[in-house]
Amino acid sequence: MTAPTLADVVAVLDGLYPPGTAEGWDAVGLICGDPAARVAKVLFAVDPVADVVDEALDWGADLVVTHHPLFLRGVHSVAATTFKGAVVHRLISAGVGMYNAHTNADAAARGVADALADAVGIVERRPLVGPDGGGPDGDGLDGGGAQTGIGRVGRLAEPTTLGEFAQRVADALPPAAQGIRVAGDLAGTVSTVAVLGGSGDGFFDAVRAAGADAYVTSDLRHHPASELRERALFEGGPGGTPYLVDTAHFASEWPWLRYAATDLTAGVEAVLAGRGEAGTVTCKVSTRVSDPWTAVVHVQESPARKDQQ
Ligand SMILES: [Zn+2]
Repeated sequence: MTAPTLADVVAVLDGLYPPGTAEGWDAVGLICGDPAARVAKVLFAVDPVADVVDEALDWGADLVVTHHPLFLRGVHSVAATTFKGAVVHRLISAGVGMYNAHTNADAAARGVADALADAVGIVERRPLVGPDGGGPDGDGLDGGGAQTGIGRVGRLAEPTTLGEFAQRVADALPPAAQGIRVAGDLAGTVSTVAVLGGSGDGFFDAVRAAGADAYVTSDLRHHPASELRERALFEGGPGGTPYLVDTAHFASEWPWLRYAATDLTAGVEAVLAGRGEAGTVTCKVSTRVSDPWTAVVHVQESPARKDQQ
């Protein structure tokens, strides 16, 4: 068995998630690591946080692949005197590389959007926003997720209620303290669903244009969410759609990690086989919850509270 070099692994990842497809403001690619180093074990995680570095070092990873960048803006020091500098130092001292695929992984086939769409059971889907920033390319519903672009929209195999659909989302994603927040009639029918991993309240126009009954995304703020629902009720009456299903940001992006691990394993195996060598990398998906929110306290109906009202 041959272990590939970091350069080999980066080439496969760049092929799966072409850096040129990342948004202009984004920072993607190799954060630290020696391209000539051998890589046998790769850990996949959403966030480049200290807990994930702990997991990587405990497991003996040679490379950590994250979704979010460690550095999105320029820095003039990576001294271990800051939390980000400490992440870099711990990785380099242990000979561990770090690579991230962010908006290039959102858009890719079998990327963040496709993985979330599969997790919640969307079939016959297309990008919510095409790669040119406009509507989806062509008229087609490809059913296989081979297209690229932001988010995905399609139908469920069988229509269901909002309440049952939200439970399906909860069951499909890793647990996070906030749970799943829902806006809309739990008995309302959900057939067409849009999804977008990560912060999604900038895409409401596309969700409405796509005729989605429900929109699964994260980080929904009060005013955009309130106005979307008020408009839906004003225009559509009590059953007005789209409904909103808000998940933890970390959770909506997490399903991609499994796809990335599977696809990197196969990609490296193919590269090595092309050289007449047998081998690949061993991949692991992080089980650490990197959502920053740690608890939710629900309002209790107490006598003292009633007195206030
Ligand atoms: Zn994100």
